Amino acid sequence: MVCNEFESMIPMYLEKKFSTRQMERFLAHLDECRECRNEFEIRYIVEYGLTEDMEFSDYNFIKRIDNELMEARRQVNDTIRKSRISMVVYIATNIVVLLCAGYFLLL
Ligand SMILES: [Zn+2]
Repeated sequence: MVCNEFESMIPMYLEKKFSTRQMERFLAHLDECRECRNEFEIRYIVEYGLTEDMEFSDYNFIKRIDNELMEARRQVNDTIRKSRISMVVYIATNIVVLLCAGYFLLL
């Protein structure tokens, strides 16, 4: 992902409109690009600092961002793991069906 694409995705992140794949790519760029990480933190603080009723200076936004990103990562990994498991089950089921079909055709 390039920085321009990342920046254009920040509003979607803030509105929680990501698919798992989009979130995975978003998080990967966030990990590898310091500039975009800074940009993301600023946009996040502007978004939540202005909409929530709290003292800006009293609140540790960076910690909140870290926690939120950690949870997002966990969800992405969880979803990917589950989809891999269901793919394996799907393939195994098809193999069993094909073997049964082959068995009955030979009879
Ligand atoms: Zn970047």
